[in-house]
Amino acid sequence: MKRLSSLYTSDCYYLNIADGVKLTGNCKVTVVGAVVVRDGVVIGTGSNATMSGALQCLDGGCAGCTQYISSQDREFLQRGECTCIHAEYNAITNSKGMFKDLRDAAMYVTIPPCLPCAEMIKQNAISRLVCYKPDHEGRGLLFLRQEGVEICFIQSC
Ligand SMILES: [Zn+2]
Ligand SMILES: [Zn+2]
Repeated sequence: MKRLSSLYTSDCYYLNIADGVKLTGNCKVTVVGAVVVRDGVVIGTGSNATMSGALQCLDGGCAGCTQYISSQDREFLQRGECTCIHAEYNAITNSKGMFKDLRDAAMYVTIPPCLPCAEMIKQNAISRLVCYKPDHEGRGLLFLRQEGVEICFIQSC
């Protein structure tokens, strides 16, 4: 790999992988990628996507996302009408196909996790979370901080 600059850290490397992974998602509104890394190895990836077997969000499967796009009314999303499975959940599930224990792994995700995903991160003993610096910290980050998970913000990569 060509080294872009001395500022290109391994955190940027994994976060850039998450940027690529997000393109595999299937949600009209929220595009997110997540990567689980343990001992320097990517052990699982996930994007925000409709559950398999259901009508996909990009095909009109999410009533909330479709209504949000036509109205720009965020309430449709806040009411939880997007049925996509979050990137962090998918990344953890994929990691556990091969690794039973995610202890001391790190999660790289392109946006901060929501509260249920933060709970999953804690439940699986992931000890470090890296994401792009958000405009404001939501409940997920607050929870992880309280639980002693190391949080690292990256301004840009
Ligand atoms: Zn959706
Ligand atoms: Zn989530």
